[in-house]
Amino acid sequence: MKLTGIRSIEDLAKDGGLAGKRVFIRVDFNVPLDKKTGAITDDARIRESVPTIKYAVEAGAKVILASHMGRPKPGKREGLSLEPCGRRLAELTGYEVHLAEDCVGDAPKYVVQNLRAGQICLLENLRFHEEEEKDDENFARQLLELADVYVNDAFGAAHRAHASVHALPRMVRDRAAGYLLLKELRSLARIVDRPEKPYIAVLGGAKVSDKIDVVESLLNVVDALAIGGAMANTFLAAQGKKTEASRIEDDKLPLARTILEKARDRRVEVLLPVDVVVAPSLDAQSGQVVSVDAIPAGTMALDVGPKTVELFGKQIERAKTVFWNGPMGLFESKAFSSGTFEIARIMSRASGFTVVGGGDSASAVKLAGEDVAKGFDHISTGGGASLELVEGKKLPGVEALRSAEETA
Ligand code: ADP
Ligand code: MG
Repeated sequence: MKLTGIRSIEDLAKDGGLAGKRVFIRVDFNVPLDKKTGAITDDARIRESVPTIKYAVEAGAKVILASHMGRPKPGKREGLSLEPCGRRLAELTGYEVHLAEDCVGDAPKYVVQNLRAGQICLLENLRFHEEEEKDDENFARQLLELADVYVNDAFGAAHRAHASVHALPRMVRDRAAGYLLLKELRSLARIVDRPEKPYIAVLGGAKVSDKIDVVESLLNVVDALAIGGAMANTFLAAQGKKTEASRIEDDKLPLARTILEKARDRRVEVLLPVDVVVAPSLDAQSGQVVSVDAIPAGTMALDVGPKTVELFGKQIERAKTVFWNGPMGLFESKAFSSGTFEIARIMSRASGFTVVGGGDSASAVKLAGEDVAKGFDHISTGGGASLELVEGKKLPGVEALRSAEETA
């Protein structure tokens, strides 16, 4: 993945200056909210956007922030306003943040007109307009009325061809990537372009069907593929193991067999669990470690066992490149979290270049402890976007930032 033709916000400042200009920054404020109270439960995405916002403010720009939040149904706005995000940003930075009631039309125009250099306006949820997800050109043109300069810092939305990340930037001559987006692209480029060998990918999570494309493309580049989590159950069943009440995807058994065959042909070592933690149900308070050859009737595998952690751990320790997506078990429950947390600990101490991507995987690493999270070379904020990059796909939001000569 080449980053040629993509300017940074610092390049824009050098090329024409940002002072007094309306700098439209597409951020990712799609933070998790408490279902009952509506409070922000994890403000990492807001914190991570601060460096770019701060840079623009200090350069004397009039800063216009835009983001999506959740999946509002047509005409419904309840609980999906960006107002709490604006408040949190103000708390984090000490800046005054002016909220516009909408993202297009008279309301934002009025707020932006009255903005002075160094002030911030946060537009209301882009997805309150269905045109956003349709990559609608007219909608993009309305956003364009608020912008002299465009900056994308929303890595989590870069894999979507939506108006604010795709149609809009192509209409603005001065367009660039923010610090967060660049950091993501540079770290993931190390995995996508000629990764240092040996390269191990550790995959897990809920379903094989979510991750088929990434498994298939990883087979072309990795030396080893370790599979844990519920995803591993389907592979174990495909090998003829009795997985009993474990969650498996019956319709994916042939696919799992094909993947195992392909791996053999390409001399990719596939590591599957040798022991698992089982319990009678998802809400069990404790589990029992058993061999994958002796899963008791009526129980399901909810975590990988200690022998599996050791097996995966040995490969992780000798790898030069490690990519991880998907928890090793039902880590949200204390009884089934140790496989995921142990793997996180091993990776955080490993000497190779370690990257974790995926919403649940990233939060698992943070839950494992601050010191554990610090040991990773990169924790990607974008689940879908990081997987698509690792698959070797181009991201619409990144391509739209390239200069005209580069895209031609
Ligand atoms: P990510 O968001 O990192 O891409 P996924 O969404 O694919 O990860 O998977 C995460 C979910 O998978 C978690 O909620 C976790 O509890 C669940 N999970 C992992 N292993 C198991 C298992 N053995 N049984 C049930 N659920 C599991
Ligand atoms: Mg997930």
